[in-house]
Amino acid sequence: MMRMLGPVVALLLSASPVAAAEADPRWVFYSRDTTAYTSPWYPGAHRTMIGYGCTRAPYYPPDGRCGGGHGFHHGIDVALPCGTPIRAGRRGRVVSSAAYGPAYGVRPLVIRNQRLGVDILIAHARTLLVEVGDRVGRGTTLALASDSGAPDGCHLHFEVRDAGGGLDDARRPLALLDREPA
Ligand SMILES: [Zn+2]
Repeated sequence: MMRMLGPVVALLLSASPVAAAEADPRWVFYSRDTTAYTSPWYPGAHRTMIGYGCTRAPYYPPDGRCGGGHGFHHGIDVALPCGTPIRAGRRGRVVSSAAYGPAYGVRPLVIRNQRLGVDILIAHARTLLVEVGDRVGRGTTLALASDSGAPDGCHLHFEVRDAGGGLDDARRPLALLDREPA
């Protein structure tokens, strides 16, 4: 029996690279939305761990905008298995991420779109495949999903700020994630 199952499982995995990606046992889902979404920013369909705005997730300091001592999450977290390629869903230029703190991981990536006047921040990646100054187009692979600076496992932190702005300039990021229910 096992001798027959082995090749079948191997065939299924090789035919479906998304299915081969492993769920991260450290993931904690604070979003009530259990829908898996596709997006031009990543392959496959994945769930939201923490949405934008006030959250009961324990990683953020209490924020005056939120009740119950809850913190404020400045981006949206998408559960991506470790190593998942993160792609540019919008065009832009890679700008320095030197001003971002350790909560964003060792190598946060910032894509500036001048036309829209925004910086798109990709956090928690370790392996970057682009450099400051590079121009990226839709579909350019930017980085591999990782857990740098993330206690809750590999994921994409997707944040949108006014171009050159600070944390207080973070805005609702969903429109630029261009996601669709799977
Ligand atoms: Zn986040």
